[in-house]
Formats: sequence, C-alpha cells, structure tokens
Amino acid sequence: MVNIASDVWAHAGSEPDRVAIRSPRTITFGQLRRTNEQVAGALRAAGLSPLDRVLFIAPSIPEFPEVYYGMHAAGVTVITMNTMSTEPEIGYVLDDSGATLVIAWHECAGHARAAAADRGLDFWQLDPGFSFDAEPLTEPHDHAPQDTALILYTSGTTGRPKGAELTAANLVDTVTSFQPVLSISPDDRFGTGLPLFHVYGQAVCMNTALATGASFSLVHPFDPRVMLDVMVADELTTMAGVPTMWNAMLHAEGDHTPEDFAALRLATSGGASLPVEVIRAFKDRFDCAILEGYGLTESTGAATFNDITREQRTGTVGPALPGSRIEVRDPDGNVLGPDQPGEVYVTGPTIMKGYWNRPDATAADLRDGWLKTGDIGTIDADGYLSIVDRVKDLIIRGGYNVYPREVEEVLYEHPDIVEVAVVGVPDDHYGEEIAAVTVLTEGSDATPESIRTWAKERLSAYKVPRLFAFVDALPKGATGKILKRAIDRDELRSVA
Ligand code: ATP
Repeated sequence: MVNIASDVWAHAGSEPDRVAIRSPRTITFGQLRRTNEQVAGALRAAGLSPLDRVLFIAPSIPEFPEVYYGMHAAGVTVITMNTMSTEPEIGYVLDDSGATLVIAWHECAGHARAAAADRGLDFWQLDPGFSFDAEPLTEPHDHAPQDTALILYTSGTTGRPKGAELTAANLVDTVTSFQPVLSISPDDRFGTGLPLFHVYGQAVCMNTALATGASFSLVHPFDPRVMLDVMVADELTTMAGVPTMWNAMLHAEGDHTPEDFAALRLATSGGASLPVEVIRAFKDRFDCAILEGYGLTESTGAATFNDITREQRTGTVGPALPGSRIEVRDPDGNVLGPDQPGEVYVTGPTIMKGYWNRPDATAADLRDGWLKTGDIGTIDADGYLSIVDRVKDLIIRGGYNVYPREVEEVLYEHPDIVEVAVVGVPDDHYGEEIAAVTVLTEGSDATPESIRTWAKERLSAYKVPRLFAFVDALPKGATGKILKRAIDRDELRSVA
C-alpha cells in the first residue's frame, strides 16, 4: 500500500495508546487515526475523489496531522500553504492547481474563505474541537507510486510560484531515506518549531517521526524559550530546526542546566547554511551535535545528510541520502571532479515528478531524472557535499567571485554579531559592492569601521564588506530562513 497515512496508521493498529503528539496536547496513535478516518470520510461524503486537489492551511498545531493524514487517506492531492498567505496568493494557488475545496484553521481562515468564495469553491473552517458527521473511511486509498499526493508551491524568487508535484512514493521514500540518518526509532521523542506547511517540517520531520512510531512535539509559534521548556518537559531525544532557530535558542535566557537536556541525543539542521560557530556553541550548551543536511522542496525536503552512522564532517551537508546521488556540474553540464565548485544536481527516489502544469519549468529543472538545484557546491573525494552558495546569491565584485556565505561565516565569529546577511548591491565602479546587514548584540558599540578592521584580519581585502547596515531584525521566510531577496539593495547603497 503506497500511502503515507497507512504508514502512520500502522502504529494505531499495533499500539493504539502509544503517544503520537506530545505537545502542546497529547494525542495517541489510536486517537489520531480515528480523527483521520473522520476527515477522510467527510471528504468522500462531500464527493471528493482521489487526486482531486484540496488546499489546507493551518499552523503547526495538533490539528494539522489530524487533518493532513485524513486527506492522504482519502487520496486527495494535498496542497499546503503558508498561514500568512494573502488573498491574492491563495487565489493564485487555487486557480493554478484547480483545487475544489479549501480547509483552513479558524485563526488563518479569513483570506482563504474570501479567495474560495470569489471562485465559488467549497470552504471548511476548522474550529477547536472540530468533528465531522460522516461515515469514517477506515481503509486508506491505495495510491499508484507516481500519483501526486502533495503539491507545494515554491515562493518563486524568479517569476510566479511553481507547484512542485510530490508523489505518494516520494513521501514514503523520504521517510525511509531520512529515518536511518538519525536512527529514529519508536522510542524517540522528536520535537520541532518548524512550520508544518513547509516541506522540511512536514515531509521530513512529521512524516518520519509519526510513520516510525516516534512521538512528535510541536512548538507554535516558534519561541526559543518555549522550545527549551518543551525540550525539558517532553524529554526530547531529537529535534529539527533551521540555523536561525538554533541561534535564537543559544541567545535565549533560561535557568536550565545542561543535565536538563540529558535526553537529547541529536539535532538536525537544514534549510540554510549552518555557521560552524553555531554548531560549536550548541555543543557547549546542550552537549549535543547538530547534523547538517541539505534539500529542497523539489527533493521532498532532503537530499544529503550527515548521517549518524557515518563520519560527520562539520561544515559539509553530508553525503547523498541512501538511494540518492549527487553531482556537481559546470554550466555546460559536464560533471566536475572532487572539490571543484559547480551547480549541484540530485537524483533519487525523493525527487519530484515535475512542476504542476509547467512543462517548460519541469524541462528546465529536471534533466533525465536529475534535479538542477540552483545551488553552488563542491563534493569531496568521499562524496560529502559542501554548499558554497546559491547561484543567484553569488556576488561578482570587480570581476572577483565573492560567496556571501564565506563572508557570513567569518562575521558570525565576531562577538557582537548576532545575525548577518551579506548581499551584493549595485555599484557603478565595481559592478557590485558587498554589504552586510547586521544585527548586533544589545548595547554593542561596534561601528562599521571597527567590524571592517576586524574582518580585514580574517578575509582577503576584496571580500570585506564595504557597506554595513545595522538593523533590529533580518527578514525571515516561513521556516525562519533569512530572506535575502527581501533586503532592499538600492537602499543599502547609501549606508556607511
Ligand atoms: P523558494 O520557495 O523561493 O524556492 P527556497 O529556495 O528557500 O524558497 P526551499 O525549497 O525551501 O525553497 O529551500 C531550498 C534551498 O534552501 C536550497 O536550494 C538551498 O539554497 C537552501 N538550503 C537548504 N539546506 C541548506 C543547507 N544546509 N545549507 C545551505 N543552503 C541550504
């Protein structure tokens, strides 16, 4: 049976009282399955057939898996979206996907209801304690492996958002690829503050934890202090996050002692590059390693990972996941040798089927089953990938290539720098100039000049940012990733 819901439901059959969701309230696998069966039954009663598209908008709360696996059990194609989406953004996805029903959590229902009403589509609002008065559907739909089970829209840094079509097999294979990386077992207590509408929180973390029979703890909205409390209260053994979350947790005050986190054995980080400095500080505070991995929505969230069973190489994102392969190619498509930078390509069982209704974009990014990632990386002689940067973030200053990530790594070592994003800004003389948008520690008296002087001792002169903007916070995306595209480059031209 190919259906992610049936893998989760298997634990309800064998151990219905086992805890599935631990925080913010307890739900057993048996209870989860019963609610899923109701949701699936209601979808069928409403006339929905397998592969009909249904948009689901909800935050990272226990009701998310209660509805999500019910939708998969009914076999509909699930679409999830950011809870902050505006009415036009939702309208675009509805028109593009041809969804016929929208389900939304009451707190983020306004825009979804309006967009659905505008198009004469059905709309279900989910309120706390919701229930459906329909015959439960107790047998999950048996998908063909290549059926599109999930469509996730990428935010579209270039052009309109594209819906990555992830198949029923992609979802199941992501679990089987990721589970060994952390050796996740039913005894694990997995926790995260990641959004569940995004591929990482949903397909990598939630699906792996629950399909393995481990418990899953949610923190919503992400707050570093609440996360620390949940780590202690739920005795989390493993967690997942993005670098900005680890950073926030390291800077959060709390009266916990290292012994409070004794259960924690591993943390995983992905989504953006993880400064080596953060890995070190995390180890100091929690006596726990962070394993870094890499992936995209188009690879169902995971492609490479520093595997617990293999040597971990800090600063790399690890080798390809079991069953996947990675290559680095030059702009003409020639495969490059060890340690040579080029564009990263990935192939394997977690790679999407294509972009929904976009044969042009599919042909551009999927070549003979290989996904062109848009990231620059190097692969060492043992197959470990290092992400150098995104192709589109590369700064070319006076003919020299500057990888912002390398500059950021160094700046993160500065004791007064909490967060930093290095970007290129248009410059009449050099083509591009390097700017560092920086969040300083409270009360810091660092100046652009003092940081520049400090940086000059650690970086070649052409890589040292000339422009510094001090800000209270950096723009962040759904997963907490720093959103460089939201930084106004023209405004930066006039800073010190
Ligand atoms: P969009 O929706 O605009 O495409 P996005 O590119 O952030 O947003 P995601 O699929 O969420 O979409 O993220 C994938 C990208 O995240 C990768 O292409 C890569 O640039 C970056 N990324 C993921 N993991 C890492 C990592 N460990 N180190 C560096 N970059 C990473």
